[in-house]
Amino acid sequence: MEKEIMGYDISTFLNGLQELEIQLSEKQIRKFLQFYEMLIEKNKVMNLTSVTDFQEVVSKHFIDSLSIVTVIDPIDFEKMIDIGTGAGFPGIPLKIAYPHLRMVLVDSLNKRVEFLKEVIQKLELKNIQVVHGRAEELAQMPRYREKFDICVSRAVASLPVLSEYCLPFVDEGGLFIAYKGKDVENECRQSDYAVDTLGGVIADLVEFTLPDTDMDRSLIVIEKEEHTPKAYPRKAGMPEKKPLKN
Ligand code: SAM
Repeated sequence: MEKEIMGYDISTFLNGLQELEIQLSEKQIRKFLQFYEMLIEKNKVMNLTSVTDFQEVVSKHFIDSLSIVTVIDPIDFEKMIDIGTGAGFPGIPLKIAYPHLRMVLVDSLNKRVEFLKEVIQKLELKNIQVVHGRAEELAQMPRYREKFDICVSRAVASLPVLSEYCLPFVDEGGLFIAYKGKDVENECRQSDYAVDTLGGVIADLVEFTLPDTDMDRSLIVIEKEEHTPKAYPRKAGMPEKKPLKN
């Protein structure tokens, strides 16, 4: 593939993809570049990302979002939900790279939801929906509760809180994967009670360095073994105010 597309030097991107063993077509790469342009344009009028340099967005947002392949093969999943997606991470990169996914993006900030609707339209993404709302409220609705094979979330809350937001969306036998920074062993230990109460079990913790950076990342894999009791998630704000712990 050409190393320059739409005027961008994509060698770092291609290198990151190669490290993750992900193959994208030129059409898919162009969608990433269009997404970058929309992100940067909209970021001038609303707060979407603190990272704006092209190569940095590639590493810290695109490749980081795709790094989930370190722990799962997205081909094995069909229905994915991204909680607290913000400007679309990790959901949009995953949807571009794995178009078969039936994706739901959730955020409580309507301005970001409206931006994502524009992105979906411009990039002509199909089978993807953006929902404005709080995880705590949506997870109590029958159309979302325990309806997903996999839930993902990056940079939204500490693991006990995040587990209460995310695990109720996951069907029995499905997965919740939390994208985290470094040194999360302690956070994992402190989440055992919450995860167990919500019907999950921490199955794996994988640490790695983001390709082409010195940034340490972790992915926490939580398996949903049992139904989440109806009492969870508690009403909006409660998981954060009083995180589940024994
Ligand atoms: N996941 C994105 C990323 O990694 O770039 C955005 C991270 S941003 C720090 C956290 C996002 O989570 C915000 O857009 C915020 O509106 C959303 N959020 C926080 N609490 C939420 C909740 N209870 N339900 C839905 N969205 C929530």
